[in-house]
Amino acid sequence: MQIVELFHSIQGEGLLAGVPSAFVRVAGCNLCCVWCDTPYASRPNAKSEQLTPARIVSRVRAFPKTRHVVLTGGEPMLAPGLPELARRLRAAGFHITIETNATLPPAGIACDLASLSPKPAHAFPPNQPVRAPDPAIIQEWLDAYACQLKFVVAGAGDLPAILGLLERLPRPPPPDRVLLMPRGATRPELARRRQVVAELCTRHGFRYCPRLHVELYGGRRGV
Ligand code: SF4
Repeated sequence: MQIVELFHSIQGEGLLAGVPSAFVRVAGCNLCCVWCDTPYASRPNAKSEQLTPARIVSRVRAFPKTRHVVLTGGEPMLAPGLPELARRLRAAGFHITIETNATLPPAGIACDLASLSPKPAHAFPPNQPVRAPDPAIIQEWLDAYACQLKFVVAGAGDLPAILGLLERLPRPPPPDRVLLMPRGATRPELARRRQVVAELCTRHGFRYCPRLHVELYGGRRGV
């Protein structure tokens, strides 16, 4: 597998925000979001490493006191080795979070928390077609795993699309599993948006999603 980063830090987002975790960032993505905060992970690059699933597990084991592992990207579900990696992590007793843009079905992968982050229309470059979230794929994840449905929000204008997607899901998650996260890869960007996102959460009963790693470390990589 092509791995862009493998590091130990604090989970900054979602239900497990604050939990020390090992992060395995897989190279490659099938989207091209204009505000992607990990563009270096969109394809293998000079710094990415080719590692077998067994080697990745042994690297994860080397972090002290790690019980949680986050498989992220890029889009980790694209990697052919991901099911084997998840199987090995499960066998080794780790809690597995998979962070995915939810464009690919789970296909029975071992996962304890699926962090589904469908991308809104404003994620797509103006000269490219918008790839709308697929409710059937999202529902497959929701039916099979503990999930959080996480939306990157720039402002109140994003809400109609989010509410529309929830309406198209046959069995939507409860509101406290719907997370609104302010868009921002730097502290000033987050500061500009977090108030309005918090107010949207209050109004709709959704969960506010922090970005602790940005608050703690700014826009640095590998933390
Ligand atoms: S799906 Fe995620 S990793 Fe891929 S381009 Fe969009 S924000 Fe970046």
